[in-house]
Amino acid sequence: MIYESAKNKVDFYVCDTTLRDGEQVAGIRYTPKQKVQIAKKLNEVGIDAIDAGFAATSVEERMAIKAICDLKLDMRIMSMCRVVKADVDAALECGVDGVILFMPSSDIHIAAKFDGDISENRKRLLQNSVDMIKYAKDKGLFVEFGVEDGTRTDKQVLLELFSKAEEVGADALGTTDTIGCLTPEQTYNYIKYLVDNLNTPIGVHCHNDLGLATANTLAGLLAGGGYCSPTVNGFGERAGNAALEEVLVALKVLYNQDIKYDLKKLNELSKIVQEYSGINTSIFKPIVGDNVFSHESGIHIHGMLKDNRTYEVYNPKIVGRNRKMVMGKHAGKHLIRHILLENGYDVLDDIADTLWKRMKEKEDLGISYSEEDVINVYRKEFGKKYR
Ligand SMILES: [Zn+2]
Repeated sequence: MIYESAKNKVDFYVCDTTLRDGEQVAGIRYTPKQKVQIAKKLNEVGIDAIDAGFAATSVEERMAIKAICDLKLDMRIMSMCRVVKADVDAALECGVDGVILFMPSSDIHIAAKFDGDISENRKRLLQNSVDMIKYAKDKGLFVEFGVEDGTRTDKQVLLELFSKAEEVGADALGTTDTIGCLTPEQTYNYIKYLVDNLNTPIGVHCHNDLGLATANTLAGLLAGGGYCSPTVNGFGERAGNAALEEVLVALKVLYNQDIKYDLKKLNELSKIVQEYSGINTSIFKPIVGDNVFSHESGIHIHGMLKDNRTYEVYNPKIVGRNRKMVMGKHAGKHLIRHILLENGYDVLDDIADTLWKRMKEKEDLGISYSEEDVINVYRKEFGKKYR
C-alpha cells in the first residue's frame, strides 16, 4: 500500500455536533422533526454520541432534544450547558444521557465576557464547573467538561482546569480550537501534552477558518485524542467545522484504520442535512460533492479505464457512491469504447475512432452527448453491421 503512515490503531469515538454547532449558521434552523431525522441517520451510521442541542435556549430546542431521547437510540445523547444549574436542569428535563459543560478558558474570552480580574473570573468559573460536574454526576449523567477557546489558553492554565475537572469526576475533557487558529503540528503537540498529563479522554473540536479543521482533527486523534466532535458537511459558524465524513474516510483511506462506522450511509446523511438546512455543499466537497467522482478528460479516462488508482485516492464504493465517466468536451475515444463494451457491443477501434470524431465535431458546436446518445448513435450507424 502507498499509505502506511499510521500502523497503530487510532482509538477514538465520535460525538457529532451537527445539531448544535452545525446549526449555528445564519439561516439554519432545523425543526424538531428534522432534528429527529438527522439523529436517526447519525445513529444508522453508527455514531457514538451527539450533541443534540443547547437545552436551555428554547422550548422548541427542548422539544427536539426530548424527541431524540425518546427514540432510545444506541447513541449517547448529550446537551450543551453553561456551568449553571438551570442549564443542567433543562437538559435533565429532556432526558439526556449526558451534558457538555463548558466555560471559556482563554484570557481573551474571559476578559471580553466578564468584568473584573481575569484570573479571579477564571477561578469562579472553575468553581461553578466543579459544582456542576458534581451535580450532573450525582444525577447519573455522563459529563464532558469543555473549554471554549482552549487552543489560545496558556497550556499550564488549561492543564489546571482539566486536572480539577478530572479530579471531580468528568468523563471526558473537550478542548476547542474555537477560531481555527492551529496548524496540524500544533494540534498534535497540544493534544499530546494533554493526553500525556491527564487520564481522561481528550476531545478534539476544530473549526475551519483556515481550511485545516479536518487535518487538525486527524492530527489530534493521532496524538491520542479520545474523541472528536465534527459536523456533517462541515457545517458550522463562519467557515464551519471539521467535516465528519472527511475525518472518517481519511482515517480509513490514509491511515488504514478499521472504521466501524457505516461509511456507505455518509452520502445520504449529507444529503438530508443539505435538504433540511437549505444549503448545498460545493460540487467539489470531498466525499459528498456531486463532482468528486467524475472524470472527463480523455487522458484521465484512458488511465481510469486501465486502472482506477491512476486518478482516484479511494474507490467511491467505499462511501456508497459511483464513479462517473462524463461524456463532455474532453471525453476521448477510450470512453466511447468503454461505454459500448459495458453495454455489450464489442467495438473495433476504428469504429470508436469514427464515432469519437463525429461527436467531437458536434461537441465543438456545443452539443454534448450522454452515455445513452453514444449507444444510440452506434446502434443507428454501425450496430447492425458490426455487432
Ligand atoms: Zn465549535
